[in-house]
Order: sequence, then C-alpha cells, then structure tokens
Amino acid sequence: MKREVRVRFAPSPTGPLHIGGVRTALYNYLFARRHGGKMILRIEDTDSQRFVPGAEEYIIESLKWCGIEIDEGVGVGGPHEPYRQSERREIYLKYAKQLVEAGWAYYAFDTPEELDTLRKEAEEAGKTFAYNYEVRHKLPTSLSLTAEEVEARIARGDQWVVRFKMPENEGVKMDDLIRGHVEVNTSTLDDKVLYKSADALPTYHLANIVDDHLMEVSHVIRGEEWLPSLPLHYLLYRAFGWTDTQPEFAHLPLLLKPTGSGKLSKRDGDKMGFPVFPLFWTSPTGETARGYREDGYLPEAFINMLSLLGWNPGNDEEIFSMQELIDLFSLDRVSKSGARFQPDKAKWFNAQYMHKLSDEELAPIAQPIYKAHGVATTDELAGKAAGIMKERMTLTTDIWELTSFFFVAPTEYEEKLTKKQWKGDNPAMLAKLRGLLEGIDDFSKENTEAVVRAWIEAEGYALGQVMNTLRLALVGAGKGPGMFDVTEFIGKDECLKRIDNLIANVTPAE
Ligand code: GLU
Repeated sequence: MKREVRVRFAPSPTGPLHIGGVRTALYNYLFARRHGGKMILRIEDTDSQRFVPGAEEYIIESLKWCGIEIDEGVGVGGPHEPYRQSERREIYLKYAKQLVEAGWAYYAFDTPEELDTLRKEAEEAGKTFAYNYEVRHKLPTSLSLTAEEVEARIARGDQWVVRFKMPENEGVKMDDLIRGHVEVNTSTLDDKVLYKSADALPTYHLANIVDDHLMEVSHVIRGEEWLPSLPLHYLLYRAFGWTDTQPEFAHLPLLLKPTGSGKLSKRDGDKMGFPVFPLFWTSPTGETARGYREDGYLPEAFINMLSLLGWNPGNDEEIFSMQELIDLFSLDRVSKSGARFQPDKAKWFNAQYMHKLSDEELAPIAQPIYKAHGVATTDELAGKAAGIMKERMTLTTDIWELTSFFFVAPTEYEEKLTKKQWKGDNPAMLAKLRGLLEGIDDFSKENTEAVVRAWIEAEGYALGQVMNTLRLALVGAGKGPGMFDVTEFIGKDECLKRIDNLIANVTPAE
C-alpha cells in the first residue's frame, strides 16, 4: 500500500523565521498538497538556552501571511498532540533509556573540566578533539564504570547525559531525494548527546527522530545544514528498529548572498537594503529587523519569488499562483547547488503582481495606507485611485507617494514646474480655463477632455502649455496620470478650488 504523505515543518523558536526557513516550509507545503498529504507544524523548542519569546507566534503569523496552511500541529491540533516538543518531554526519556539498554547509547558523567583535560591532550598531540570511540572509555561513562557505580551516581543526583555510541569505521549508506546516494564513514562522526539530565530534555537529534516516527512522517524536507546529521539519523532509525517506516529525506540547497558566495544573512540585507525575514520583527530586547510584509510586498509575489529559489518548473515561465505551484511541484527539479538571492528580482515579482491587481483587490491594500495618512475615503475610491497609478508601482508602499494628490490638494508647488509654467500668459489662460470647467456639467473624463481640447484648439494654445499649468494647479508637481483622470476623480468643485488656490497663493514669475 502506498504510504500517506506526511511532512512537517519543524522550526526552532530561536528568533524570526529567515526566508530560507519560509522556503523550507513552502516546499513542504507544496509537496504535501501535490500528493494529497498532510502538512504538520512542530515546534522544536528543546534548547532552552536558545528559546526566544515571541518567535513561535512570529513563525505562525508568517506562515499565515504566506498562505502556507497547516493541517496538523501547533495552533491547529491533531491526532499526535502535543506538537510543541517542550510539552512532550515525558516521552523522550523512555527512548533514551531504550537505546542505552540496547547498547546503542550510554550514560556519560564527565564534567567540563575532565573534557577540557582530554581536549588539551589532543591539541598537544596535534589532533582535533572528538568525543568518540577513542575517548568514551577514558571518561566516566556507563561503558567504563560498573553498573553499580552508574546507578549510584544517578541515584545521588550527579548530572548525566546520554550519548549515542557511534559505531567505529562503518560506512553508512544513505539516500537523499535531491542529492542521490551519499555515504559517510562513522569514524568521522562523534558521539552526539541525545538527552540531558540537567534540564530533563532531549537534544534535537533524539526528539526529532522520535517525533518523526511517532507522527508518522513520510518525508523529511529540510535545509542542507542538516545533511551532516543524516548519518546519525539513519543510525538512530536502525537503533530503534524503525527502518521499515523511516522517512525519505530531501535536503534543500542553501539560499546564497546576492554576490553568490556564502549563506544569505541578515547582515547582507542590512547592507544592501532588503529584508531577509517575512515580517517585521522586534526582539525581546528591542532589536528590530525589517520584513517583506511591512516593506510593501504582496504575499503572493513573495511566495512566487521564493518558490523559484532552488526549484524550477521545467520551462521559462516565472509567474505562478500557489495552486499552479502545487500542480507543478516536484522534488526532482530542486537543484543541488545553492540559489542566489536577487533583491531586484524580488521587486520585479512584486511589480508584476501589483500591476495585475483589480481595483477591488487594491482597495483593502490602499485603505489602511490612506487611513494612516488621515484620508477617509470609500473602498471604491481607494481602489480606483490606486488602480489608476498601479502600473507605476513596485511596492504597496508606493501607493501614497503616487496617489496622495487624489485626496489632498497641493499646499506646496514643485519649484521647477512653477518657474516654468507659472509665468507669462499662463495665469490668465488658467483663469479662463477655470471658467470653461465651471460650465461643464458632465465631468466624466471623456467629456471634459473633448471640451477642453476643442477649447485649446479654438483659443490657439499649445496643448502642453495648458496641461502642464493645469497639472501644477491640481497636482502641484510634474507627476501623476493623465490630467483628465485627475479632473474626473477629484470632481469639479475640487478642481476649481485647486485652481483658485494656485492663483491666490502663488505670485507668477515676472
Ligand atoms: N528544528 C530544526 C530547525 O530548526 C529542524 C530540522 C529538521 O527539519 O529536521 O531547523
């Protein structure tokens, strides 16, 4: 029988979710949806040292903003509750002990000082220290102490850890859905800590394998930085006797700096002026980091951009909705090599999506922006104003700069345009044009344009002269859409008022 696809996104709440993490979540989600499976959100918070308050909420809000839906997990519930590892702590000790009993792991009681001595010895001999088969017998462990001693130490409350007993000189053969066959010799690996008595918590490795097993995860899709842990994970499945249901693995390529070398970091974003996080973040100590949402990106554009960083659809197309991505996604087309992040490309995607929005879709995006600037308007007008100018927008944050004149009369006039237009015959011409506009009943853009054009011709004015002077009065600057889009939008009364303002408040040049 074909196994049900069950994938998980398993972030550790150690800070804001990097866009590389969002991409991991996205690929998991696309894979789950593509195969009619389930997407699980598990919070891996067993490292109390690195826990950051607010990070879990940030992760959940980010996924929601991106449109990545969770079927099971934190915030949703499901058949394997709880999904937060700190709430599953009772589960793990049993498994740690099971491994010790089966000879796959051992108790270690060494102190930091004892370890230091061995480390120094190794350094003096010109070797790098590794906690492995060469070392484990030289330290107080359940391999070097008698069973009675071990029991006595545990009973009197000595601190201990359980370490994995990495086999010596064995080739571990692994398969990765992206990288193919990989083989690693265990002698290059150390005895990782699986459980710590000090906080009665497992480490990542033990909790991750136990939970993937209990939650019946079928595919582990995660970042390349976890590839070095794969041999240990394979051996843990073997040690537990779970190889039959062991998940398949896929390790995703790194997101690289815009320069192409090294992992994309917050510092790159700070230096070059782009966010590396989906949402704005404030740390408990007050440090902040910018986010795509607050910087004016649409979630659909952001997701589209991320989807192509490490995966390709097999053709030249670039614009994909979430549903199209679901229909097309396959791990076969995830690349092995890192994907270079290009901030300009992120903007390009956003512009494509901005240009396609209807007035109805723009309204809810523009309204909060207008409101924040003290403009109260209807949804219809908000959508219409933004819609007229959308072709020139890259980010939603461009909306105010490009459309404010629809709602707010100019109080200042651009100096260059004023010098050029507000002189000679133009003030008298504008006064006449005011009279003409006042007499127009049908103020629709088409009718106003026809009437004004006929008048310009009859009076013998130059079209540019009239339009630029009118623009000075209505917009106050040499920007904006066609003049008759403006007249229609603001209406006759407002047009006349703005013309009167210019005439009354600005003295023409000589
Ligand atoms: N908690 C790990 C992380 O933060 C999860 C790694 C995995 O998916 O196995 O990335």
